[in-house]
Amino acid sequence: MSTAAPKTFEEVDCAFPETLADALALMADEKTRGRPLAGGTDLMVQWESGVLPMPQRAISVKHLPELHTIEASGTDVVLGAAVTHMAIRRSAVVQAGLPSLVDAAATIGGFQIQTMGTIGGSVANASPAGDLAPSLMITDGQVVVASVRGERSIPVTEFWTDYRKTAMQPDEIIVRFVLPKIAAGEREIWRKLGPRQAQAISKVMGSCRGRIVDGVVESFKVAIGSIAATCIRLRDVEKWIVGQPVNATVLNELEQKVSSSIHPIADIRSTAEYRRWVTGRMVRGFVEQLAQPAD
Ligand SMILES: Cc1cc2nc3c(=O)[nH]c(=O)nc-3n(C[C@H](O)[C@H](O)[C@H](O)COP(=O)(O)OP(=O)(O)OC[C@H]3O[C@@H](n4cnc5c(N)ncnc54)[C@H](O)[C@@H]3O)c2cc1C
Repeated sequence: MSTAAPKTFEEVDCAFPETLADALALMADEKTRGRPLAGGTDLMVQWESGVLPMPQRAISVKHLPELHTIEASGTDVVLGAAVTHMAIRRSAVVQAGLPSLVDAAATIGGFQIQTMGTIGGSVANASPAGDLAPSLMITDGQVVVASVRGERSIPVTEFWTDYRKTAMQPDEIIVRFVLPKIAAGEREIWRKLGPRQAQAISKVMGSCRGRIVDGVVESFKVAIGSIAATCIRLRDVEKWIVGQPVNATVLNELEQKVSSSIHPIADIRSTAEYRRWVTGRMVRGFVEQLAQPAD
């Protein structure tokens, strides 16, 4: 095998292990370790555009049966890392337990991207504009990663440590996500704002999970993406709103608290001012909608 840096994907030494043990053994040794490759919808673009150098080796995770699980397990939904966005959309288990994740997956690219792109790839890519992040964060679930040393669980809320950085070690791959389902009476809402209706990269997107009974907020979790280096939970706002009645005064204060508690980025997609204003409106809208009777 040539040691010159590959210039095209055809020159990359790509392994297709069929068991998790084989994949982890390849990842364990620096001489055989390669870039994990799932659907390639981020990597191919990044390699071709030069954002990332073409790697010497890639290790496909697409043929590992353990990474394709979708199952309900007690109060959790367990999703393998190689589950595609389309499989998430179509799964009755995910529709019942994680409705916001289903709605988010439905907004990712078009059908072609949804058919190739995976939840593990989206999460490991660690883009602040990754549309699945808010729906995963509001579950307070776990990302399970594996290496030859064994498995460990990382809370979703601690997985992204900075812009495009994760808590994974170089020899680890994501194997699955363990995500608590919505409890009785809880609902979830997903909202994405982009420059157009379809195939848009988000300016701001967010998810909430909550329960409002007799006009009073009993539980509320909210996460917002595309406004900072990583997706963020608005924990102070979550604490403040629980126990509050849903009325105009509280909603006005909520909107103001959200906008003043964030420090949005400005980039090619949006200004910081717009993101600050619209995030307040979005979270207000979440609570208003949760207060409405379910469809
Ligand atoms: C035209 C187009 C439109 C898009 N639209 C959207 C959109 O609207 N919203 C959105 O959020 N995204 C969008 N994307 C981005 C992309 O589709 C998603 O991020 C996708 O989920 C990535 O998954 P993948 O399987 O293709 O990952 P890959 O490209 O295979 O990998 C991405 C990263 O994850 C790593 N990786 C993959 N699997 C694992 C694993 N199991 N363990 C550890 N590391 C792993 C890879 O090494 C790489 O760093 C779009 C992409 C394109 C090309």
